[in-house]
Amino acid sequence: MDEAERIAELYHRIRAAASNWEPTTLSHYVGQPFKALVASMLSAQTREEQTLAAMNALFALASTPDAILALSDEQIRQAIRPVSYFESKARYLRDICERVVANGGVVPRTVDELTQYKGVGWKVAVLTLATGYGITDDITVDVHVARIGKRLRLVNPNTKQPPKINDELKMVLPRAMWPHWNALMVQFGRAVCLPTYPRCGTCLVRDLCPRVGVVETSPGSFRSTEYD
Ligand code: SF4
Repeated sequence: MDEAERIAELYHRIRAAASNWEPTTLSHYVGQPFKALVASMLSAQTREEQTLAAMNALFALASTPDAILALSDEQIRQAIRPVSYFESKARYLRDICERVVANGGVVPRTVDELTQYKGVGWKVAVLTLATGYGITDDITVDVHVARIGKRLRLVNPNTKQPPKINDELKMVLPRAMWPHWNALMVQFGRAVCLPTYPRCGTCLVRDLCPRVGVVETSPGSFRSTEYD
């Protein structure tokens, strides 16, 4: 099996299994650019379920930029309290809403424009474009994409910057996989290829994986060496 066949088989198996795993938070906002932008911003350094709880609480109160701007700062803070750094993110949210309103209610369609917004870095911008507009010129690189890419030897283990990991992945993954890669890795990373103790013993791609940065500590038990 050559490398292209290995990657195709990895993708095929993980995609076939994905319907058994928890959907990603962002999957709730496909085709909804504003909600995708807010969810992406809130999701930074936050667990999926906490992001979803915050989104549900916020959008139960207000679901448009104008309506969110009519909320008090305290109402916004309370709604998004489940996410990390909620006080900073409450300020970012107000800035995002003001800018979207000033832009005629339209979320920008480019990374360059989106990253002018407070709280919106490269990753949030790429995720927003992919989810909200279906623009998938890049692969959203989060902790799951980075970690699993290295374990599967799709990415150099020493590469740290998400845009560089995106470049390396785009060199090896066929274009048709790019739109789905982030969500699949988030799901796979939460169900199987866990950060500290990956479930390699029962993993559906164990025969295809070189397990870079993972050691077997006892028969059937595996641990990441990333934090050693
Ligand atoms: S074999 Fe282990 S390291 Fe490789 S993808 Fe599966 S869980 Fe992750």
